[in-house]
Amino acid sequence: MEKKPFITKEKAEEIIKKYPTPFHIYDEKGIRENARKLKQAFSWNKGFKEYFAVKATPNPTILKILGEEGCGTDCSSYSELLMSNKCGFKGDEIMFSSNDTPDSEFEFAGKIGAIINLDDITHIDMLERTCGIPETVCCRFNPGGKFSISTTIMDNPGDAKYGMTREQIKEAFIRLKSLGVKEFGIHSFLASNTVSNEYYPTLAGILFKLAVELKEETGVNIGFINLSGGVGVPYTPDKEPNDIMAIGEGVHKAFDEILVPAGMGDVRIYTELGRFMLAPFGHLVTKAIHEKHIYKEYIGVDACAVNLMRPAMYGAYHHITVLGKENEPCDQIYDITGSLCENNDKFAIDRHLPKIDMGDILVIHDTGAHGFAMGYNYNGKLKSAELLLREDGSVVEIRRAETVDDYFATLDGYWDVLK
Ligand SMILES: *Cc1c(COP(=O)(O)O)cnc(C)c1O
Repeated sequence: MEKKPFITKEKAEEIIKKYPTPFHIYDEKGIRENARKLKQAFSWNKGFKEYFAVKATPNPTILKILGEEGCGTDCSSYSELLMSNKCGFKGDEIMFSSNDTPDSEFEFAGKIGAIINLDDITHIDMLERTCGIPETVCCRFNPGGKFSISTTIMDNPGDAKYGMTREQIKEAFIRLKSLGVKEFGIHSFLASNTVSNEYYPTLAGILFKLAVELKEETGVNIGFINLSGGVGVPYTPDKEPNDIMAIGEGVHKAFDEILVPAGMGDVRIYTELGRFMLAPFGHLVTKAIHEKHIYKEYIGVDACAVNLMRPAMYGAYHHITVLGKENEPCDQIYDITGSLCENNDKFAIDRHLPKIDMGDILVIHDTGAHGFAMGYNYNGKLKSAELLLREDGSVVEIRRAETVDDYFATLDGYWDVLK
């Protein structure tokens, strides 16, 4: 599907007068419409709730917008719990799906009443020791082996560090029940960034069957099934986006086939989507500042991997639009680079694009999730601002750009001497 930026060249030029490049910008209208579509797709399930994966886009303004659309948050660290709590998410509106968790984080999650999702059976002792055993507990399941949809291998849970084995989750349920847990949840995350309407329905089938078995084997009350994240977005223009209505219907079908006949028709469906909720509704906007003609043609931009790490880290494709040149022929082949002293600091390699002139504004697509959030400070590079395009077309800054003072802020005492 053709990728169109949600801002025009004129709009970008107007924004840049106030907020210099590079910056991330998010599209409020797109975020809200998409969140409503997800809700609609699962409206057949009375207790449905999306817990937005905070790690994807940890910005309070974004969290509040999603909160207004009925979402909770999914956290895996103290800072994410704190941000959710400060943004007004309360108690069971927060899911704590952590792993390798320090005691202090269970303590805090317990204090704010978040739903705790246990990654490991040894966490039961930790829970007892730190915040006590709550009435509702979720456990994360890892079926091991390979995870396939029909004949395609999607991912390799047997190699993943997450979750409990089949035997462990049964043992955990029995133990937690004896410790007073009244309501149980089951969680699993088996494949990342799936562009297939079959992922959630297949996963749901596995978890629904497990729920029926565990109820029979242990007698526990299963209140919810958490399908977690993994519903992806098409980063490349040749792929079709997921059809969330078809996905919701696929899960509905499995629900009616497996849970309803087992007398479990009141089970609530939860999701913890990050990428699907935000990725397409964020752009990294950057300016061409250098051209270099050596063995290849290079365009240097004012953003770098510090602003968007996915290409350097995973070789991920992010589509690029040169604003104002949408209809020009892509008759040039460029590497689009940042300024890090790292040769993998390239947003695109051998990309067919229109001729780029210095000062041209480039939109890097699908950076709304796992974009700004993965940023770091290598080479002393500073993180950019985050902006929000409101529904009325106005633009507000929802996080300012870092300054050198921020960069040196942890050098207590030393920075004053350097100044
Ligand atoms: C990362 C993560 C998510 C979100 O994943 P997406 O691929 O962004 O949908 C959800 N739940 C857990 C536990 C995660 O670690």
